[in-house]
Amino acid sequence: MIIILSHDATETNKKNIIDRLRNQGYTVDVSEGKERTLIGAIGSNVENKNEVMAQLMSMSFVERVVPILRPYKMVSKELRERSIVKVNDDITIGGKEIVIMAGPCAVEGDEQILEAAHMLKSAGVKILRAGAYKPRTSPYSFQGFEEKGLKMLDRARKETGMAIVTEVMESRDVKKVAKFSDILQIGTRNMQNFNLLKECGKAGKPVMLKRGFAATIEEWLLAAEYIMKAGNPQVLLCERGIRTFETYTRNTLDLNAVAAAKTLSHLPVVVDPSHGTGRWELVTPMAKAGVAAGADALMIEVHPRPEEALSDGQQTLNLKHFKQLKREVRLVAQAVGRKLT
Ligand code: PEP
Ligand code: MN
Repeated sequence: MIIILSHDATETNKKNIIDRLRNQGYTVDVSEGKERTLIGAIGSNVENKNEVMAQLMSMSFVERVVPILRPYKMVSKELRERSIVKVNDDITIGGKEIVIMAGPCAVEGDEQILEAAHMLKSAGVKILRAGAYKPRTSPYSFQGFEEKGLKMLDRARKETGMAIVTEVMESRDVKKVAKFSDILQIGTRNMQNFNLLKECGKAGKPVMLKRGFAATIEEWLLAAEYIMKAGNPQVLLCERGIRTFETYTRNTLDLNAVAAAKTLSHLPVVVDPSHGTGRWELVTPMAKAGVAAGADALMIEVHPRPEEALSDGQQTLNLKHFKQLKREVRLVAQAVGRKLT
């Protein structure tokens, strides 16, 4: 439920109500609006909720109490207007600025990842993406360097100061991946791996949850709810395309889902037009469309030489095309009141 305090509620009133709710078993989320304080209280295990609501409504400094109707309580926009996810000390996702995460699909070796990192850093990118654990459709395809790949990413992080986003595929690897990265990525194939979601909820690092390629928007938001319920409010929702009847493109980037997620949830939304299209020449147009639809960040596959990439080369931009993407996206960002540096 959401408890809306009246104008004249004092700090002591606020503290008392928060303590009381916590003692009753609620998880409490406070959001200070311009005029009023809103207290979100989620109590999946609390009995006699109706009585609690009635008691709250009888308090003089409570203006209104409204139930949260959506099944995803903590993720819902009913709880708060917007969340800003902080990555390290210098990056915020969900504010005015459009943030770009870029890099190769996979870590392919020390030299490749360092070259990519330096190249992208000088193109203004603050977050480097690359997979050390690769969920590949075929067991004969390159599977990633796993722990060695994490160490290569760590070196790139230390040399460039860039933040790292990389995929974690198994619950038992969460702590290890969290140590070498700044954002944990949950891939499309693992969106409903509930144990992984819960473990990432305890990781103390932001989590980027990619939408399952056959998941509804509600299932995606409920998967994010698992992470938040386990104690991690730092969640990014990433639309990366869904499976449809169309075969010309690898997936169908669902821009409806981007706009819908922004209306249903307070969490920042990331768009991945690389996996969303599977074709490099479509990446820039769909990145622009994603920003126009309300995305807060983009994830773009970029490689120093896409023709040599060990995975996803056909959807990967080279530096020249990436710079062009930035120029074009910047104009769209400005048109919708956002900023791209
Ligand atoms: C990736 O980002 O490299 C990746 C494997 O993404 P997805 O899970 O969306 O396929
Ligand atoms: Mn990829």
